[in-house]
Amino acid sequence: MLPDAHRQLRNQLAVFLPDDRLVTDPLRLLAWGTDASFYRLVPKLVVVVDDETELRRVLACCAHLGTPVTFRAAGTSLSGQAITDSVLVMLGDGWRQMRVAADGATIALQPGVIGAAANRALAPLGRKIGPDPASIDAAMIGGIAANNASGMCCGTAQNSYHTLAGVRVVLADGTVLDSRDAASRAEFARARPDLVEGLAELARRTREDAPLAARIRHKFRLKNTTGYSLNALVDFDDPIDVLAHLMIGSEGTLGFISEISYRTVEEHAHKASALVLFDHLETACRAVTRLKSTPVAAVELLDRASLRSVEAKPGMPEALATLPDDGAALLVETRAATTAALAVRVDAIAAALAPFALARPLRFATDPKEAAALWNVRKGMFPAVGAVRPTGTTVIIEDVAFPVDRLAAATLDLQALLGEHGYREAIIFGHALEGNLHFVFTQDFGSAAEVDRYRRFMDAMCAMVVTKYDGSLKAEHGTGRNVAPFVELEWGAEAVATMRRIKALFDPQGLLNPGVILNADPLVHLANLKPLPAADPIVDKCIECGFCEPKCPSRGLTLSPRQRIVGWREIARLDAGGDEPERATALKALYDYQGIETCAACGLCATACPVGIETGLLIKALRGRGAGPLARGVADVAARRFGAVTVALRVGLGAADLLHGAIGTATMQAGLDGIRKASGGRLPKWSPQLARPVRFSPPAAASTGAERIVYFPSCAARNLGPQRGHDAEALPDVAERLFRRAGFDVVYPRGLDALCCGQPFESKGLDDAAALKSSELAAALREASDGGRWPIVFDTSPCTFRMKKVLAGALGIHDSIDFVHDTLLPRLALTPERGAVAVHPVCSARKMGSVDKLVAIARRCSEAVVTVDAVQCCGFAGDRGFVRPELNEHALRDLRAAIPAGCSGGVSTSRTCEIGLSEAAGVPYESILYLVERCSAPAATATAASRDGVAVTA
Ligand SMILES: Cc1cc2nc3c(=O)[nH]c(=O)nc-3n(C[C@H](O)[C@H](O)[C@H](O)COP(=O)(O)OP(=O)(O)OC[C@H]3O[C@@H](n4cnc5c(N)ncnc54)[C@H](O)[C@@H]3O)c2cc1C
Ligand code: SF4
Ligand code: SF4
Repeated sequence: MLPDAHRQLRNQLAVFLPDDRLVTDPLRLLAWGTDASFYRLVPKLVVVVDDETELRRVLACCAHLGTPVTFRAAGTSLSGQAITDSVLVMLGDGWRQMRVAADGATIALQPGVIGAAANRALAPLGRKIGPDPASIDAAMIGGIAANNASGMCCGTAQNSYHTLAGVRVVLADGTVLDSRDAASRAEFARARPDLVEGLAELARRTREDAPLAARIRHKFRLKNTTGYSLNALVDFDDPIDVLAHLMIGSEGTLGFISEISYRTVEEHAHKASALVLFDHLETACRAVTRLKSTPVAAVELLDRASLRSVEAKPGMPEALATLPDDGAALLVETRAATTAALAVRVDAIAAALAPFALARPLRFATDPKEAAALWNVRKGMFPAVGAVRPTGTTVIIEDVAFPVDRLAAATLDLQALLGEHGYREAIIFGHALEGNLHFVFTQDFGSAAEVDRYRRFMDAMCAMVVTKYDGSLKAEHGTGRNVAPFVELEWGAEAVATMRRIKALFDPQGLLNPGVILNADPLVHLANLKPLPAADPIVDKCIECGFCEPKCPSRGLTLSPRQRIVGWREIARLDAGGDEPERATALKALYDYQGIETCAACGLCATACPVGIETGLLIKALRGRGAGPLARGVADVAARRFGAVTVALRVGLGAADLLHGAIGTATMQAGLDGIRKASGGRLPKWSPQLARPVRFSPPAAASTGAERIVYFPSCAARNLGPQRGHDAEALPDVAERLFRRAGFDVVYPRGLDALCCGQPFESKGLDDAAALKSSELAAALREASDGGRWPIVFDTSPCTFRMKKVLAGALGIHDSIDFVHDTLLPRLALTPERGAVAVHPVCSARKMGSVDKLVAIARRCSEAVVTVDAVQCCGFAGDRGFVRPELNEHALRDLRAAIPAGCSGGVSTSRTCEIGLSEAAGVPYESILYLVERCSAPAATATAASRDGVAVTA
């Protein structure tokens, strides 16, 4: 039940926002309200806004009712600044536009653009945005700018503040300013003289106060996100420029960033990285001072404990194991436009390091994979601690900066302080050139004594950083609630009074993200701590970072992987406590649909998770636990009588197709949609793109004596043909012709009609039936391939993925993508088709790392190739597209707009995914094997050598 103020607000918002964008159910309030910090506040209302007009109206309603409001981008913040117990405003699909200037020198970005997406758009021009937080694959521009986030390379020179070209903001009262537009500046000055004159006066007084101005300049020589960007008051004369720069790092407390333009920075193509080992931390820190004057792009300091946490990771040198306890490493990167220039830079760095005693000879890696391995290990350090922490504890990352010439002493002091407070597992690493150190430790918030230990540590750490080193308490991560009590300690009373005046000028009602940055409660950093109870071993290591969210097809519809975990943790907590049974029951009822029913079980979340969690496994386990004896019995019968099941499927498809042909698409659609609606969504959805039935029987072709492959057409390929209106042959017929054209004899496993990899059962958590089918298939493949002598080719990637996992490398199984790319293409003459083809790599192809090969095949077979960045998993998930079509529709909502006029079709490697893709895109999708077959002929020039060189391994 909503409290009065929020109920009134909801009613007012419902006048112009649809119901599904006003979220009040307890599961989504909890789950959507969560960010990556260790604080928990649950909003009373989540509002999804799609454009500036809506946002202004929401702010007007909040102002009218005096209701606090917090903005949310990706929710990867660590300091407690993206959470609220009032109204949370989330960004809908309308905030993802970007405009790159023709020369790439600037880019205009809406706040919902993910940082990495901006960089992908700039990459062809050799540019990138300056801010480079390690979270850039998930974090959005609104949060990056509002936190003034930065990372390993950007230093202070390339952060949002210093690369800001202009910003469009909406203030608490709904007024809009676009600092890039002269007319808007003039209009704003007329509309808000209080703010413009107030800021002008504040800036003048600050500049005239010489000690304060000097202190501000002094403090921003280091990375600093504690408090507001006071440097705006001394760096700019025009109050509008002051306002624009104050927005950076304001953590949603001064206004809403509606669009931002950055001056971009150069992204050199050639890079060299070296992990430089030292026997002593102090030597490493002295080397940093020396490296500052060399052409390094990044220098990361890693203390002995942090190296120990990643010693066993791939790419780490053996010498790490013998490094003394006092040892340390510098991870160094340099970049250049050409290889020759890179070599000069490497030499300069080597010369600078020559006087220092290194624990192993200096070696630079220029191979992108080798270098990426080093940097991935560095990026994984925070999660590495999270992954080994005891269940129930929290992993905390702090983020301070010291003058770089005092880095060694500061690091030793930090190590000692952490030890004194019992944080023996703590690791220290950071951006050494900036004196910016992160330290990571685990903390139990389950008892008052432990909370008190954290309090004592924070008091001592803040005092040390400020009084001994005049450092920054938050260099990158923002003040949030975590260091709000210490802002005055760091800045002094006068600077904080200036910050209060800023807040009062922008937000006189104090409604924008109250309690963040400035907070009168000296213990706010110890309040509202997030519980992380044991929920399930599959997900207990989750640090709620949110990195998995952009991969998930159900994000924004129901729950993301992180949100599924948050919800399940809360249910587990309530079950364990037993004191709120009604709330537990309500959450479970909602979880059935939001958590379990609408998960595609695609596993893509695992590909982005720094601790390797596949949330889909939790969901499959829950489905399995929820399946009663009846469901298991039916699954068992279906698995044992699989041939009969496929016959029934074909009969059903045939009947639907006959009816479709007789009454036409419009009548069929309207009729069946109506019946499905009347059934309360219990009947499966019908689609005009539904496959027509086919029946494939392996031909008994005589052996030609050529090389042999075993071909396994999946049950989908054997039974689901092309859709009505696209009369093509069944996929297995086409695939066999293609394989033979490339010079292979094709054999099939025995008893094909009844064979299946078990994936349809596995995704429902019906593990026994799944295992039965996969073991039958394994036996048939073993026999057909003569114990693995002949390569086995699958035409459907999800089946390849499952059987590779089941067989763990025991037989030579090839997905069609790998087989075509590595083996068939060299044996075929290809004539690319005209026009463009859209390529959709299915989730299993992504997980098997074959996306580039799929695109490469399409490029060989078509004049142009369309890839759609915004679509990851299609959400069809085998049969889920029929029973939960809203998941498929949501996952593919951006597809149609991304298909250009000249594109008449798409390719993929899973028939069921292709049904949903065809409907969403408005063009037919088919297996890539059709395309390759259509445009290929036997290579007249295929030589014995090229045949010998094929990558077929038995
Ligand atoms: C594992 C991990 C590693 C990280 N590494 C780094 C790092 O290297 N460097 C770094 O700086 N940070 C890092 N972070 C912290 C965080 O990812 C960044 O600060 C990031 O920029 C936050 O962006 P977001 O989209 O998640 O914003 P959110 O967390 O959603 O919001 C951030 C703040 O911005 C406000 N806000 C959001 N949108 C708007 C808007 N449109 N207008 C005004 N205010 C808005 C919010 O109210 C909030 O106060 C890391 C976090 C994690 C979990
Ligand atoms: S599942 Fe992994 S990526 Fe997702 S929030 Fe948890 S730790 Fe982060
Ligand atoms: S398995 Fe797929 S749908 Fe399920 S939580 Fe993970 S990414 Fe989302």
